[in-house]
Amino acid sequence: MAINFGKAEFSRSAGTKEQFLWDGLPQFAFAGRSNVGKSSVINRLLNRKNLAYVGTSPGKTTQVNYFLVDRKAYLVDLPGYGYAKVSKAEKERWGRLMDSYFQEARITAGVLIVDIRHKPTADDLTMHRWFQETECPEIIVANKQDKLKKSQIEPALMLIRETLELGEEETLIPFSAEKGVGKEELLRLLNAACAGFPSGSEKRD
Ligand code: GDP
Repeated sequence: MAINFGKAEFSRSAGTKEQFLWDGLPQFAFAGRSNVGKSSVINRLLNRKNLAYVGTSPGKTTQVNYFLVDRKAYLVDLPGYGYAKVSKAEKERWGRLMDSYFQEARITAGVLIVDIRHKPTADDLTMHRWFQETECPEIIVANKQDKLKKSQIEPALMLIRETLELGEEETLIPFSAEKGVGKEELLRLLNAACAGFPSGSEKRD
């Protein structure tokens, strides 16, 4: 049965690998550079204004945040990366945390959020490779589409495809957290990624 993304609650934050949650429910992991609009995309999907916190000073929270969705799956908000002002120590902490997350990962689908206006960065490419290594289905979301003219969208998508070396079968969706563009498509893909999951896997107390 389809997951109702409108029924979500904050579940927990993990700042160390011991706090990671692997309880058998499907996990959708969301990653993206600081300020790319990851919180806004998540809030848009969950139909909430402020569940994922928008506008926290970038890079301040190196934590993995879990949202339980419809008691059937977790939306996992991975800490943003690539913020220039973050200290070396904080960057290393981020690296270690992500390393251990991806080592243990049993991700149902990965969502990599990039900015449609910019060529993906080296960090975006690294994150893309990590998702590829887990062999989970990956969806690339090109956010802030509303900031481009219609004629600019196709070339921008091409640049993202080239830079991340996406194959034809890999999914790239133009998205606007601001306007809601792409939301239904992303929800459809997340539900599809879950379809192979054993049914009846619902969280019990
Ligand atoms: P995060 O650091 O990746 O979680 O990014 P936020 O969700 O905090 O968003 C960073 C900034 O980009 C905020 O000012 C948002 O309002 C803005 N933003 C996010 N998504 C969009 C979008 O689709 N269109 C536009 N125009 N602005 C957006």
